[in-house]
Amino acid sequence: MIKGKSASGKSSRRAGAGQRATHRSLKEQLILAGKVLVAEGQDDFTRGHISFRLPDDPNRFCMKAHSIGLDEITMQNILTIDLEGDVVAGTARRHSEVYIHSEIFKARPDVNCVIHTHPTYSIALSATGRGLKCYSQPGALFYQALGSYTDTINLIRSHAMGAGVARALGNGRAVLLKNHGVVVTGATIAEAVIGTIMLENGAMVQLLVEAAGDPAPEFSRADIEKLKADISQPEQFTINFDYLVRRVKRRG
Ligand SMILES: [Zn+2]
Repeated sequence: MIKGKSASGKSSRRAGAGQRATHRSLKEQLILAGKVLVAEGQDDFTRGHISFRLPDDPNRFCMKAHSIGLDEITMQNILTIDLEGDVVAGTARRHSEVYIHSEIFKARPDVNCVIHTHPTYSIALSATGRGLKCYSQPGALFYQALGSYTDTINLIRSHAMGAGVARALGNGRAVLLKNHGVVVTGATIAEAVIGTIMLENGAMVQLLVEAAGDPAPEFSRADIEKLKADISQPEQFTINFDYLVRRVKRRG
């Protein structure tokens, strides 16, 4: 019996150490993701935030703090927050738009990372009221997977507003918040980061095409869906995220 006790004590200590290592590695990814997003022009002063769900505690998530840039996330200032939006660990100031994250994590068990930023071309596209076309390959990633939130230009500062964003997301990948910004989700941090960058690129190409005028027809639905399946593979996100991390590290 004593033997049994000591064995289970050992295994729970091992589980605890494993948990800490996983949390640490995800926090390191969050820090690098913030730097990649800024290097890709996704910063807007200290606005914008990124979060990931804890794999061993799915009702909690870690999130960037208020008052710092996306490239200033550290192990010390990352907050742990529950699905009501309340801080459970950490002393830094919480973003008032936390409800974008908490309500999406509530509504979508498959989502483990949420990013909200204010990228120029995506905002410009949202202001036209038109959806994203497949005028370039990134458009295919969001084919029939891009929602639109049109309730307000204001910050998403309540459970109800966050739930509205989650409704606009539905089963999709991302939401354009009209005249405000984007919310992009992923099963992993890599997926959400690459999705955010691709959405902005797709919006930029579309606005160029529309400004040039008289766009030629898009490719067939079947053709677009084939590309969508190819570029939605988890490996695509990992390979490209890892590349951007290496590049940001090289540049210091
Ligand atoms: Zn915002």
